[in-house]
Amino acid sequence: MQALVLKNVSKSFGGIVAVDKVDLTIMVGESRALIGPNGAGKSTLFNLVTGEVSLDEGRILLFGKDLTHEPVQKRIASQLGRTYQISNLFSQLTVQENLFLASWQTWKKKVSLAATLFRSWRKFESERRYVVEIAKRVGLEGRLDTRVEDLSHGEHRQLELGITLAHEPRILLLDEPMAGLSVAERGFMTELIMSLKPEITVVIIEHDISVAFSIADKVSVLHRGAIIADGSPEEIANNQEVQQIYTLSRRSKDTRHA
Ligand code: ADP
Ligand code: MG
Repeated sequence: MQALVLKNVSKSFGGIVAVDKVDLTIMVGESRALIGPNGAGKSTLFNLVTGEVSLDEGRILLFGKDLTHEPVQKRIASQLGRTYQISNLFSQLTVQENLFLASWQTWKKKVSLAATLFRSWRKFESERRYVVEIAKRVGLEGRLDTRVEDLSHGEHRQLELGITLAHEPRILLLDEPMAGLSVAERGFMTELIMSLKPEITVVIIEHDISVAFSIADKVSVLHRGAIIADGSPEEIANNQEVQQIYTLSRRSKDTRHA
């Protein structure tokens, strides 16, 4: 079964073609890495899938449903989850309070938020267990009562993932989840992401190619908005066009910094 299908999807900003006639099919249970130089159109592709940016042409299907013209909320309801490069957490609240607020959306048929706030959510035992379960899953069970502002950078990322998991996604889009993490934190996050499959289909934008290759079953390379190659990590590593693009983009960076 197909989790995500993009058909001939394009998006321009003024004169810049950010995404150029992209065809992409990701199967349920797959983990796919999306790599490519800065400005290749990776984040825009995610924004098109979530509906945060509207496309110029093409179609987008999630689990067989055409969501091309559906709003963001409808796509999230179709079990699409996404993390961002910039934190979206309540910094004055604790880990469990953040997870509780995120989970409420999932429970809202059972529990009214007003009643919850009025009676103090701590009285909701099964909901509390749900929150603790998610905290465990992202390695934060020891930090439940810690305020977000007192968490390390790596723990912020773990909590963001937890908040996304609270919505029970079937497909998860991760935009550079390792950005700014230490080597140890990267190792932990890699394990964490790998533990999500196969129940959750994962699409990950990752700058560090070795991380991308270790997580993904399949890799797609975006360059100037177009997918120029996809295949197994080995195939991509040996692809000459891909090697050239990476060498060139590294060289232009070196010149800029010189
Ligand atoms: P990547 O994530 O691969 O680094 P992006 O998708 O962020 O690339 O950007 C692709 C291109 O689209 C870039 O040239 C970027 O400047 C442009 N772009 C992205 N978002 C916008 C926007 N909201 N308005 C104008 N240009 C944008
Ligand atoms: Mg980006």
